[in-house]
Amino acid sequence: MRQEIPYKIYLEEQEMPKQWYNVRADMKKKPAPILNPGTLKPVTLEELSGIFCEELAKQELDDVTACFDIPDEILNFYKMYRPSPLVRAYCLEKKLDTPAHIYYKFEGNNTSGSHKLNSAIAQAYYAKKQGLKGVTTETGAGQWGTALSMACAYLDLDCQVYMVKCSYEQKPFRREVMRTYGAHVTPSPSMSTEVGRKINAEFPGTTGSLGCAISEAVEAAMGQEGYRYVLGSVLTQVLLHQSVIGLEAKAALDKYNIKADTIIGCAGGGSNLGGLISPFVGQMLKGEADYEIIAVEPASCPSLTRGVYAYDYCDTGKVCPLAKMYTLGSGFIPSASHAGGLRYHGMSSVVSELYDQGYLKARSVEQTEVFKAAQTFAKVEGILPAPESSHAIKVAIDEALKCRETKEEKNIVFGLTGTGYFDMVAYQRFNDGEMADYIPTEEELKKSFATLPKC
Ligand SMILES: *Cc1c(COP(=O)(O)O)cnc(C)c1O
Repeated sequence: MRQEIPYKIYLEEQEMPKQWYNVRADMKKKPAPILNPGTLKPVTLEELSGIFCEELAKQELDDVTACFDIPDEILNFYKMYRPSPLVRAYCLEKKLDTPAHIYYKFEGNNTSGSHKLNSAIAQAYYAKKQGLKGVTTETGAGQWGTALSMACAYLDLDCQVYMVKCSYEQKPFRREVMRTYGAHVTPSPSMSTEVGRKINAEFPGTTGSLGCAISEAVEAAMGQEGYRYVLGSVLTQVLLHQSVIGLEAKAALDKYNIKADTIIGCAGGGSNLGGLISPFVGQMLKGEADYEIIAVEPASCPSLTRGVYAYDYCDTGKVCPLAKMYTLGSGFIPSASHAGGLRYHGMSSVVSELYDQGYLKARSVEQTEVFKAAQTFAKVEGILPAPESSHAIKVAIDEALKCRETKEEKNIVFGLTGTGYFDMVAYQRFNDGEMADYIPTEEELKKSFATLPKC
């Protein structure tokens, strides 16, 4: 007989993971090394340490150590908002009239409103430990900038955020949360960096892009004594820190002897998905268990489902190392009508390699359907989800409805990465029936594939 399963499965504090899990250690074929954009040779620790904190650069390059101890100070910070609950979506199951059991791991239970804080605190910690004065970064939608501001405030580090100008103007409240935590927020492109001035001169009145903000943040870090650059997704160090999501989820499932059948996550740069699936994929790699894993991406920015697996620049400014990944080309810019987040042109090299080896599938969904799923979920489960997270909700609902046909009692687990309170302009468009779906044409993709570096 099945044990009665509570609405929320919480771990006790002492059951929280004490180590992060590096899934690369258990991969027979490892992700390809990242390359120096100047020499196109594998990046050395020394080179990487010029941009990133040394400990983080080490984590980035380490594909043999399976477990990294989580330092006590980070564990204590985690305890303020973790363990995050694994919720049994009883109300959604009832609404869908499905025999499937649906679970979601909720990461929106902190002020930043997303999983980004899990890595922000780790990155800020290593910067502090190295004796740095501060860090620089970019933010698009604002979740990463908020998370990093919180982490830096806690550790008394200076935090400089280059925020994409249109987002700076459209999301004044995100900006003010960051400033309240003491961060310096600059709309990008700015006049305070060389690259910013150049872009402003070339494109007067531009509202900016993530690629440009990255280049500004990197320049700012290189130009100030005691500063390094940090990034909230895509990198393997970020995926490592986010493994706390999967480790907790697995511990919670194990506590009630639940075996997940299908695991679903949304994929932008791949950090939450990679973190959620890491321990499960680890079991698959060792032949201990089998799972169906589905990455969900927007149809308007379909890196896994329509991209190519190749070396590409991680940023439009071409200052960061190159990574081999599923990519649409660093020149790809999703349609302006796309409101659902997950706008990144590439994908974590670990998620890309696992996808290439067949450990996960990918599906793309259109944004109107995503917002419909978000609304269905909000109505019965109470939480107003982030548009990004709602990609996973959409596919979880689809899978649960399939179970209604097949009468399968599957266990479906998905990652609910955050809340959507700062995304009300997107919800407004949806509520007003003004949301459009956009799917890039083959022609458009061909054009941006042409920007791929030849190496
Ligand atoms: C940043 C973000 C994502 C996408 O980033 P990944 O690196 O792909 O996880 C998804 N959901 C929320 C709420 C986010 O803030």
